[in-house]
Amino acid sequence: VFQLSVPLNFLGSVYRELRQSLLDMETLFNLQRVNVSIAERPNAKALQLSKGGEIRFENVSFGYLPERPILRNLNLTIPAGKKIAIVGPSGCGKSTLLRLLFRFYDVESGRIFIDDQDIKDVTLESLRKSIGVVPQDTPLFNDTVGHNIKYGNLEASESQVTAAAKRARIHDIISSWPAGYDTKVGERGMMISGGEKQRLAVSRLLLKDPPFLFFDEATSALDTHTEQALMQNINSILKEKSRTSVFVAHRLRTIYDADLIIVLREGSVAEMGTHKELIDRDGLYSELWSGKLTTPRHVACA
Ligand code: ATP
Repeated sequence: VFQLSVPLNFLGSVYRELRQSLLDMETLFNLQRVNVSIAERPNAKALQLSKGGEIRFENVSFGYLPERPILRNLNLTIPAGKKIAIVGPSGCGKSTLLRLLFRFYDVESGRIFIDDQDIKDVTLESLRKSIGVVPQDTPLFNDTVGHNIKYGNLEASESQVTAAAKRARIHDIISSWPAGYDTKVGERGMMISGGEKQRLAVSRLLLKDPPFLFFDEATSALDTHTEQALMQNINSILKEKSRTSVFVAHRLRTIYDADLIIVLREGSVAEMGTHKELIDRDGLYSELWSGKLTTPRHVACA
């Protein structure tokens, strides 16, 4: 829902938040999806990552519309510093999990904890600053490529921007353009391809370097070779920094090496384990894997 009629005081507080967090791109673009009833508690405290970033969903139920539940009594622990994958049929609520964690919406019942703090008890700014997302559709500003990466961290140096672009496998392409990093991406990024946009978004996230990294179908527009090379780079960064990362993926080959794979179905966890455990179990994951290595759209979710 596009909020053209959001109250001015809400916009005021949002702009304060934006200034404070030096123009956080995800916040800016996801404003469109923000439910204005999300409020910070008066005594909210800054999020403390005392356990390294463990995320826990406890009996969470949620639906965008009351008559259509999406998550049903979901219980889920995402261990700190690990690579987690969330897979499952289309429309089962994978992206919804991310939106709830960001508090774009509040849970209907149940609670979400990060390192034992209910996310409703922490400041929105500290919560959203700690999470970085490569969303399904990457928002770009009508600005230069360099600036679009730099929104991840406005204080980054040129060499940090280039290093992030290299790790996101986009530096060589940018360098081949006549204006290089000064190339304008055009209105809404029309001038560059879907795969280039995704890699710019990954560069931006790597530059932001948040404690939690979410990749929502982040490599879906890439060819297999580029996708593998990019995933290798991302994996090595995650390992090196022990970041908690969550990958929502349809192409299972991008996530089969995850420390934990969570299979969602009908709004709750159907199975979880490593790739090997899930294959041995011979359930839904194994069915998805033996199909076309994707989660086919025709598999019923609910
Ligand atoms: P996919 O794999 O196709 O990306 P997903 O598992 O990530 O799907 P979600 O995007 O979480 O699914 O959506 C779950 C369900 O909620 C879908 O049926 C979707 O149509 C519905 N939905 C998502 N956003 C909204 C919204 N803002 N208002 C109403 N319904 C919504």
